[in-house]
Amino acid sequence: MALTGLQIFKLLPKTNCKKCGMPTCLAFAMQLAQKRAKLEDCPDVSEEAKEQLAAAAAPPMQLVTFGTGEAQVQVGQETVMFRHEEKFHNPTIVAVTVSDKLTGEDLKKRIESVNSLQFERVGTKLGVKAIAVINDSGSDDAFAEACATIKGASDLALILVTESPEAMAAAVGKTADAVPLLAQAAPDTAEAMAKIAKESSCPLVAKAESIETLSELTEKIKAEGVEDIVLSLDGLSFRDQLFNLSRMRALSLKKVFRPLGYPSLSFVADPASRRGGVDSDSDQQAAMAVSLICKYSSIVVVDTVEPSALLPMLTAIMNIFSDPQIPVQVEPKVYPIGEPDEKSPLMFTTNFSLTYYTVESDVEASRIPSYILVVDTEGTSVLTAYSGDKLNEKTVADAMAKANVESLVKHRKLIIPGYVAVMSGKLEEATNWEVMVGPRECSMLPKYLQEVWRKD
Ligand code: SF4
Repeated sequence: MALTGLQIFKLLPKTNCKKCGMPTCLAFAMQLAQKRAKLEDCPDVSEEAKEQLAAAAAPPMQLVTFGTGEAQVQVGQETVMFRHEEKFHNPTIVAVTVSDKLTGEDLKKRIESVNSLQFERVGTKLGVKAIAVINDSGSDDAFAEACATIKGASDLALILVTESPEAMAAAVGKTADAVPLLAQAAPDTAEAMAKIAKESSCPLVAKAESIETLSELTEKIKAEGVEDIVLSLDGLSFRDQLFNLSRMRALSLKKVFRPLGYPSLSFVADPASRRGGVDSDSDQQAAMAVSLICKYSSIVVVDTVEPSALLPMLTAIMNIFSDPQIPVQVEPKVYPIGEPDEKSPLMFTTNFSLTYYTVESDVEASRIPSYILVVDTEGTSVLTAYSGDKLNEKTVADAMAKANVESLVKHRKLIIPGYVAVMSGKLEEATNWEVMVGPRECSMLPKYLQEVWRKD
């Protein structure tokens, strides 16, 4: 928990020497509490005080990184319980399992299936970010071989899942340069697993059946010299898992309980009953994973490779981890749809992503090559922008001039959204273009373009 100004003051030399530029130590402490001053500005602060102040300033939840290069991912360092309080920082990672029982073509096919789970939604790329290699075979060599093969065949980050320190050591020997996440250390294997994690500089998952055991376990692992830890609740019902994930989040953020101040990992299917490479109920996995993403899993591991199950999870992550104060926007400019020419229709919409991509898909469905002019309305939809005076004849005329639409089409006709038909007259005066009022709902655009524009 952050220290108050008075708590900081007690740790300062209290000589009021003014070397920090403040008239008194108390004034400096108050500035420090508000993060308007730096501790280094006081040259006389003791080493002991520095340690205490640094510990208090550390984030309540550790940031953990694994993978390398483009595949590197970060989880943790969250600061709030609820998104509206500020925002969530590091999006949940979705990992898909690959069993080490798979070999040859079967293994190759499974890796390709996982690699292909990449999507685009409202202009943003979404995808699975990690592969969880499961030691279903029980063999150290098979596990190490599968991990090495997957590392060579996928750009995704790796999570190595085994209960056996021997199998983990063998797999890390072949993949350490990819900085995999090592899952998982139980109370009886903590020492051996921590040794492997420390020597390879890889983060380690600690697993236990209760919060109490888990907090003891993280302290034990930390004492072995491993700082980057991920928490995993094992052997609980789904309901208890969700309940305890929320408790852990509250204890780490509200109480700054350091033993639980780490990101978390959840297996949607129980690792012990996993059937390696065989999909269980994909819909159920999607529903469970989305609940875990909301409350508060940093990494979810699923078995399914069904795109219809993955997309809801990734969409949930996209929505939850967007900044609630910044609407998702597209760049204001002219977007050609198909291969439009000087006779093609020109219409405008706003730069709120959801609005733009809905209009874009309906224009595409019309099969009439068109231009869509996107007006900067600070990421608001048509009616919201109009009500807030961010969409008016001036903003549209300015956007038309800036995009030089006169050079694109010869007809001087502009289709406007039906909801803002009221601005037709003023817009015609401001632009000297003929205004055509389009439909209110953009789902009617294909019909409008086919029947009204073409006839016109
Ligand atoms: S430099 Fe340090 S000791 Fe001197 S006034 Fe500032 S806080 Fe106090």
